[in-house]
Amino acid sequence: MGTKQTDIVIIGAGAAGATLAVLLGQVGFDVVLVDPYPPKSFKQTETTGRTVALIGSSVEILKAAGVWDKLEGLSCPMHTMKIIDVSKGDKEPVSIEFDAMDAGRDEFGYNIPNAPLRAALFERVQKLKNIQFREARFHDYRADEHGVTVRLDSGDEIRAQLLIGADGKNSAVREFAGIQTRNHDYGQTAITCIINHSKSHQNISTECHTPNGPTATVPMPGNQSSVVWVETHEKAEGLLHLKKHEFEQALQAQIHNLLGGLTLEKGPEGWPLDTVKARDIIAPRLALAAEAAHALPPITAQGLNLSLRDVATLAEILTDKARLGVDIGSQPVLNAYKKRRHLDIDTRVAGVDILNRFVANDVAAIKGARRAGLKTLDSIYPLKMLAMRVGLSPKIDESRLARGEAL
Ligand SMILES: Cc1cc2nc3c(=O)[nH]c(=O)nc-3n(C[C@H](O)[C@H](O)[C@H](O)COP(=O)(O)OP(=O)(O)OC[C@H]3O[C@@H](n4cnc5c(N)ncnc54)[C@H](O)[C@@H]3O)c2cc1C
Repeated sequence: MGTKQTDIVIIGAGAAGATLAVLLGQVGFDVVLVDPYPPKSFKQTETTGRTVALIGSSVEILKAAGVWDKLEGLSCPMHTMKIIDVSKGDKEPVSIEFDAMDAGRDEFGYNIPNAPLRAALFERVQKLKNIQFREARFHDYRADEHGVTVRLDSGDEIRAQLLIGADGKNSAVREFAGIQTRNHDYGQTAITCIINHSKSHQNISTECHTPNGPTATVPMPGNQSSVVWVETHEKAEGLLHLKKHEFEQALQAQIHNLLGGLTLEKGPEGWPLDTVKARDIIAPRLALAAEAAHALPPITAQGLNLSLRDVATLAEILTDKARLGVDIGSQPVLNAYKKRRHLDIDTRVAGVDILNRFVANDVAAIKGARRAGLKTLDSIYPLKMLAMRVGLSPKIDESRLARGEAL
């Protein structure tokens, strides 16, 4: 079998890998995108029990990839974010609300169903003539001074200047490259589902902090919301095996009747949670992006937002360097990617990890500190504004695409 020549091989056509393929394909790179599980077509997809809350610049990046027109009607703007601490059952809950209008915006971002997001991106992939999709699994690669040869389990061999691993948190590319990870298992499972409810959600995304972990309701179009309910593995296992009406009752108790009467529309499904952080995001002729580089628990909805920032920065660096005639797989180019991404990745991973441990903590002193922290934040206006800006638009490594500019 002959060797296919291309500019870039991307392993993994999840939301991050497919976005990157589209951004690179649009500016003229030849790309081979590899995944054993291509998403269903947009028409065939139905909403599953999972959505992603995409904040601030992420929507700009999806617009740049040409998929926002398809997704906007299926997505719901989030005007307000509310955090409620209900950890002290005997005391009044403490809460804080952040309004997008206070930050001079109409909305913080949008809640987007996962399956249509992947399908819309994959349709863009198929429309771009210079992206070739291979339904296969990564097998191995060999890097040398002039390029990289990637082998797939189909027996195909591809020669490129650069290999990008966007193959998720158990990345085979990362493992083959010998890049170690730092892992933390929280002993928690996220239960996700979609519910119908009688009260309007008023475009408010609410995160209830309980001793076992957070429970979030995130608005969807109409009187529907997606739910992410974090519990210990043992408790989650029990909840996932309840009958439908029993689960509805348990969820109602968990969210304190927040949205009126509720019925289950989709799910529930369980997702074990951990943090996985690659010790490096580059190796000779290789860059890691998205969950292959960092996977986070869902508290404060950072995961894909962080990943899309990787993808936007990598697309910008590769485009700029190619325009200057520089070898896009060379070490200075890879170093530039690592240098621009490390602060954003390190601070987000550490921040989410600390927050997740802090929230899922039943020690009395920590519960008290958590409640006092929310009260302080709510009562000191500049502090609240600062928290909101940091959450909204991380200025660390802002790419042109994140600012709504062209590549
Ligand atoms: C419960 C939950 C709620 C979440 N909520 C939010 C949220 O509100 N906001 C947010 O920003 N993030 C959220 N996240 C995180 C977000 O869902 C993930 O970051 C995102 O889906 C991961 O995208 P990815 O493209 O990096 O990886 P994946 O979606 O895992 O894609 C990896 C792809 O690589 C392919 N692959 C794997 N191995 C190979 C191989 N050997 N060869 C070829 N291909 C391979 C897989 O088939 C897959 O298609 C949440 C996560 C969870 C668990």
